[in-house]
Amino acid sequence: MKNNHIKQSETILTGDRATGPLHLGHYVGSLKQRVELQSNHKQTILVADMQGLTDNANNPSIVSENILNVVADYLAVGIDPKLTTICLQSQLPALTELTMLYSNLVTIARLERNPTVKNEIHQKGFARSIPAGFLTYPISQAADITAFNATLIPVGDDQLPMIEQTNEIVRKINSLAKKRVLNECRPLLSKSSRLPSTDGKSKMSKSNGKPINLGSNEKEIRQAVRSMYTDPNHQSIDSPGRIAGNVVFTYLDTFHSDIAYVKQLKEHYQRGGLGDGYTKAILEECLQEFIRPIRKRRNELLRDKSFLIEVLKSGSKKSQIETKKVLLQVKDIFGLNILN
Ligand code: ATP
Ligand code: MG
Repeated sequence: MKNNHIKQSETILTGDRATGPLHLGHYVGSLKQRVELQSNHKQTILVADMQGLTDNANNPSIVSENILNVVADYLAVGIDPKLTTICLQSQLPALTELTMLYSNLVTIARLERNPTVKNEIHQKGFARSIPAGFLTYPISQAADITAFNATLIPVGDDQLPMIEQTNEIVRKINSLAKKRVLNECRPLLSKSSRLPSTDGKSKMSKSNGKPINLGSNEKEIRQAVRSMYTDPNHQSIDSPGRIAGNVVFTYLDTFHSDIAYVKQLKEHYQRGGLGDGYTKAILEECLQEFIRPIRKRRNELLRDKSFLIEVLKSGSKKSQIETKKVLLQVKDIFGLNILN
């Protein structure tokens, strides 16, 4: 990753919905960058339990049961709570208040135009029964980002519309204040900002299809790789195969350390003479090796939940103070300060 362009003074905020354990898409899209950035920047990570409820309110245990899984995933990949503040969204009331204030600055039409939200509404089959909280979640993300006055957001590419919408809110607030109160932020995309799902139909995601989790066991990894979409026209080993859209090669590009070897494999596959079973076996070995140590650390961490809870508690306490400061500034702009 080329982070040379990143200034020393960046404030970083990212988060993940507590809707399931984290998967390979999270790792390559954002977690890897967070681990690299945490030593030189002020980084906060938000476990978004409130946002998780926007499409799970009828089954809230999906969210409550995954909060500690997500924290364990962070620590297992190398996020260090001494360097990164990890907090829980529902413990920060300032975020909810900011969401409410910002919602006066955003139209329903603007929310409906958000391409990620549009796509998710379709995927989740909401049709006309869209929970109001779901439609407005980009506003709550703007609250999350601005409450920390973050300038850099390491995310997957599905989050670009949220950052655009956040900056629109920031500009409105600053224009109301007639000075810069909030910072605009920019995304930090990795080389793999949209890891596809194993069927190649969409991005890998917690709540759509079967993700390969960072805690997957050997059998789950094997089955996921065996079921991967390749080239449907590659009927026999001898026939030439296509690389474009072939999920196995996308994953080899992303996870295999030997670029020259993957290039050779691709050439061989395109010429013909290389079967999907072979390429899948190579990928499986590579993913087994990648996930094994993460799974081990994750399992160890989940054996002592009190440590994970302590990490969340102390991070949330620190973040409560920080976010309240920004809330007071924004309330001031709206004239909600007569009792202060
Ligand atoms: P859900 O299905 O509940 O929305 P998710 O898998 O999409 O879960 P999020 O918690 O919404 O995960 O996303 C957290 C972060 O991980 C975001 O920055 C998002 O862009 C990134 N991310 C999620 N999936 C991928 C992926 N397949 N490739 C790259 N980045 C991803
Ligand atoms: Mg998502």
